[in-house]
Amino acid sequence: MIRVTILGDVWDSLRDRCNQSAPLEDGGFVLTRPVETASGVRLVVDQEVAPPNYENRWNIQEQRRLRPTTRYKSKVMGESFQTDRVPFFVHSHPDGPPGFSYADELMHEAWLRDFVESSAQGAFGSLVIHGNDVTGKLWTGIDYADDQHEVDVVNCCGSRPIRSVRNLDDAVPRDLTGDVGDGMGETSTTNEVDPLEIADRQLQLIDRLGQARLTSAKVGIVGLGGTGSATAIQCARAGIGSLLLADPDTAEISNANRLYSLTLEQAREGTAKTKVLEDHLGRTATAEVETIQDDVTTGSYDEELLDCDVIFGCTDRHTPRDYLNKLSVLYGIPYIDVGTRPTANDGLVLDLFADARHVVNGGPCLWCLDVLDPGKIREENMPKELVDREVKDGYRRDEGPEPSNVFMTTMAATMGAVQAVAYLLNQENIWDEMVVFNLWACDLQRYATDRADDCVCQKGQWSPSVHQLSLLSF
Ligand SMILES: [Zn+2]
Ligand SMILES: [Zn+2]
Repeated sequence: MIRVTILGDVWDSLRDRCNQSAPLEDGGFVLTRPVETASGVRLVVDQEVAPPNYENRWNIQEQRRLRPTTRYKSKVMGESFQTDRVPFFVHSHPDGPPGFSYADELMHEAWLRDFVESSAQGAFGSLVIHGNDVTGKLWTGIDYADDQHEVDVVNCCGSRPIRSVRNLDDAVPRDLTGDVGDGMGETSTTNEVDPLEIADRQLQLIDRLGQARLTSAKVGIVGLGGTGSATAIQCARAGIGSLLLADPDTAEISNANRLYSLTLEQAREGTAKTKVLEDHLGRTATAEVETIQDDVTTGSYDEELLDCDVIFGCTDRHTPRDYLNKLSVLYGIPYIDVGTRPTANDGLVLDLFADARHVVNGGPCLWCLDVLDPGKIREENMPKELVDREVKDGYRRDEGPEPSNVFMTTMAATMGAVQAVAYLLNQENIWDEMVVFNLWACDLQRYATDRADDCVCQKGQWSPSVHQLSLLSF
């Protein structure tokens, strides 16, 4: 699968320029870094090549035609070589066809050899913007037909993120045959189920194409406790087609007060949380479920995460949330961070907070929002003996596990899942970057925040992976 991500600043400026020029076509050249994913490649558009002369960047700019100058193209070839990026031409069709026109195809064919041969990555791509849809192709060699690949998914970040899926009509759910497990880990009967019949009451809200947007999506959920299990089950029931569920831990009896679908038997036996959810979803939903029983910070399943359309962080530990925040900023995958926080005094409940925050490249990250704590990250990564000694010596309190209950975890999961679904449906997410709902006091606080200029996400200290396209198979 070929995914393209356009990072926030690049997309906001491209989209604004194209909107302003309409009905004339507009666009520009961008550079992308390829990174390997479990199913292929994600090409991250992280910079636009400024034309040598902005006023005269086009030879032709019409309603149905856009041709850059030779100087502009030469500059792109030079920069793509120097930066080891794949060059892409991006242009709008304000009232043209949703995909490439015949003239576009001829233009690509004429350009192909020059771009491929001058690119250090040996590849060239092109995208067309038509309303809320961005479609395109990638060439990984100079043979116009044989080296051509369709781009499957384009996700654009920034102030108005969108996700565009190729051949969405094909993703409209039809009869599927699901293997239905009996909850004991073995497949028993095979039931024929029609996902559209399951979705019947929701189809009246979002229609078949909307449902197809959900079916075509892959959502990653890291942490499968109270919030993670509630998120997974809601996503599956809403019709998300593919779920990546990850948690290193096994269930305990004390999880049974909030971990959805956990049986007491599984809790007593210490069943892996991934297995608990996999068994349950196998019996109740048609979603494809992939599970990973490992800690996200080992990096062992980065390639699977890079294949997701949205990632949820459902863990209260700060180290994995820092990891996911960084992954989201670097690769432009929308990240939803959910959490809970109660306070009580002598058995008197004061607050039950459910929090949801979203991170989309171009907006604030979790560090900008000031929700990650470097002290907590330090503690989480300290050897246990050292923590025990500090407790013994009175330098810290033995805090034990955080208090939690099912009301907070369920509410936080729902707040996050709603935002993910709004994004996958290409509908505007009007939630602020951070929303904190105190269920006990029925009080909702919204925090609309900008990026912090002095934040680590703005200083270029994080370095992304870049892969050689020629070494990847897709
Ligand atoms: Zn065109
Ligand atoms: Zn930041």
